[in-house]
Amino acid sequence: MKPEGVIVVGSITTDVTAFSRRLPHRGETVLGDDVTLVLGGKGANQAVAAARAGAPTWLVGCVGKDPFGEIALSALRSHGVALTEIRPVGDRTGVAHIRVDTSGENDIVMAPLANSDLNADMVDESIRAVRDKAGVLLLQLEIRTEVACHAAEAAARAGLTVVLDPAPAQPLPDRIWPHVTVVTPNESEAGALTGVEVVDDESAKRAAAWFLDRGVRHALITLGAAGALSVTAERTRRFPAYPVVPVDTTAAGDAFTGFLGAALAAGLDTGTAISRAMAAGALATTRPGASPSIPDRKAVDELVSSTPP
Ligand code: ADP
Repeated sequence: MKPEGVIVVGSITTDVTAFSRRLPHRGETVLGDDVTLVLGGKGANQAVAAARAGAPTWLVGCVGKDPFGEIALSALRSHGVALTEIRPVGDRTGVAHIRVDTSGENDIVMAPLANSDLNADMVDESIRAVRDKAGVLLLQLEIRTEVACHAAEAAARAGLTVVLDPAPAQPLPDRIWPHVTVVTPNESEAGALTGVEVVDDESAKRAAAWFLDRGVRHALITLGAAGALSVTAERTRRFPAYPVVPVDTTAAGDAFTGFLGAALAAGLDTGTAISRAMAAGALATTRPGASPSIPDRKAVDELVSSTPP
């Protein structure tokens, strides 16, 4: 039997979010209504999603030895993510400093801090340590680009399925693409990377072709409320979104990728894996916040089985 675990290489932050009626102008102070302190970072969110999907999940990343690190680790532990590959380095955990107004408009300063210390040797060590238990490695781009490139190559060499969520979008060297099994950009990330503005199915197909031309096996472009487009050399498929009433779309993409990784590691066929990922993304939009909005396996099972294909 193939190993069913998921390795996530990526960022860990504590998200400090202040809520106010309106965002302050430059130089202005406004009185706010609330502040929350929750686990964040794309790596952590995807690890939470994979673990909630039922996969044994290891997160490879760095936190600082400070109270924010404690908050992040205890949240990861509570969601069932294995902490053995998380390194405490220095005294500064990454922080996302977020402000949200009542209309949902937000701005964010993300300070990577400890996340910048994640290096290629740590990634190699962790892949060696858990390789036998995992079939899939998930990657995003809130860690240093060279480390993400190295992780893709090392994971592919170890025989893992490599899923890259190229978010936040940034230029990547062409050498990364042949190591990527599945790439999961949203419309704007696909546009930024390929230069093809994704506005409809035709343009999404052209963006997908850009990835396949560079050596990616499967381009899976997420289209928010419009669903997703899946393109391989053999087959192009359009998946409509699950009908939900969204309240906050934060972390939909992370829920999608985490559930996709868990489903692929469990050996499910690609179509079923995509449906589960889409259901997880849809459910994440029905609850506010990032990691707290990520659904569990049962909620995804229910949505998938109650919605006709
Ligand atoms: P990101 O959060 O990275 O921008 P998307 O918004 O494309 O990613 O969302 C990822 C997936 O989550 C989509 O492919 C879709 O299946 C699901 N999803 C996102 N927004 C909605 C929505 N409003 N209604 C239903 N499903 C959604």
